[in-house]
Amino acid sequence: MLFKSPRGTKDILPQESSKWQTIESKARKIFSLFGFEEIRTPLIEDAKLFARSLGDFTDIVQKQMFLIKRETDTFVLRPEATASIVRAYVEHDLYNISNVCKFYYMGPMFRAERPQKGRLRQFHHFGAEAIGSANPFLDAELIYLATRIIFELGLSDFEVVVNTLGCQSDKKKMSVNLKEKLMPHKKSLCEDCVSRIDKNVFRVLDCKNPQCKDIIMSLSWAQAHICEDCHKHFESVLAALDTLGVRYKIDPLLVRGLDYYTRTVFEISSKELGAQDALGAGGRYDNLVEELGGPSRGSIGFALGVERLLLALSAKTEEASKTLLDCYIIPLGEAALKKSLSVLNDLRMSGVPSDLDYLDGSLKARLRRADKKNAKFCLIIGDNELAKCTGILKNMSQSTQEEVLLAELVNKIKAKV
Ligand SMILES: [Zn+2]
Ligand SMILES: [Zn+2]
Repeated sequence: MLFKSPRGTKDILPQESSKWQTIESKARKIFSLFGFEEIRTPLIEDAKLFARSLGDFTDIVQKQMFLIKRETDTFVLRPEATASIVRAYVEHDLYNISNVCKFYYMGPMFRAERPQKGRLRQFHHFGAEAIGSANPFLDAELIYLATRIIFELGLSDFEVVVNTLGCQSDKKKMSVNLKEKLMPHKKSLCEDCVSRIDKNVFRVLDCKNPQCKDIIMSLSWAQAHICEDCHKHFESVLAALDTLGVRYKIDPLLVRGLDYYTRTVFEISSKELGAQDALGAGGRYDNLVEELGGPSRGSIGFALGVERLLLALSAKTEEASKTLLDCYIIPLGEAALKKSLSVLNDLRMSGVPSDLDYLDGSLKARLRRADKKNAKFCLIIGDNELAKCTGILKNMSQSTQEEVLLAELVNKIKAKV
């Protein structure tokens, strides 16, 4: 039987993993620059954590959770990181340490998406959470941080869309208002949306069904349900974004269907991917810390989809093949192989990335392997060279070669690379 990786998961092979490392290290640098520190939470959490935070009537909780039952406990492979991080913040009383805790994270998330949509069931996020302040400048800082990361990775063709949902009581008003507006159209909405009207009416706004979309677009829309405080907050966010030079569009229909969002929500999409698939999104969640048993703390966060960033980047650039090795040793015979082990170790311990040809074959075939490894130099050691404590050092790109003393090899290579 031939095994395959589970549906909706992907192997990241060495050829690709170097791109992951590059964008991860760039993102880490920018997170640090903005004062964020890394947090690593477990990949499994108590399943109830997400029902409590995201909401019982979200697609994630209803259809996409990977549940693991063990004795009397039910765990879930985390579908996102915000709830986990707030859980950790409350569990370790981090509110006692500093006023605003700034966390960043990178790692896999799991959702049982329908595979025909081409979505992954294990996908990866870069994200940030700033917990402990309701200051609108923090909203602007987080939005700006997300755009800086996208920009530094090499994407400039992206769009930022922002909206405010208002506080919990504004959200309630909006939900009543939205229900009233949708009721006359109930017969024309899709089956899912009809049940959403009662359970979580905001999710109707996220429906991808064209007929539902038309109805939503036809509704006359006013932000009358937003209270004065929330309105002022949003105005300050927008003013701060202007100061930071972030261009944005306001979309009153952007709601992000998770229960925990309040006030500012935003989404960043790339022209390379189209509007359907955002590069990332985020928002405020001012009640979640309290909801999960902590004190009342304003908070905001975002997540960027790593696979989507890579997809948008690959539409732009073809990366040149990377040089992996400075030296590739080809020993001819048993005695040379034995000597090669210590030469190889000297090179590596001196910081010269090196490897050894372990396979037999003609010298030509072995040089081809060195080429495939993208080695800069090849060191060939035969019996003649061994007797003189030398080797033939071949420059692979210039096709030149010279005999070198093994004792001088490290310095020779270091001088040339
Ligand atoms: Zn309000
Ligand atoms: Zn619908």
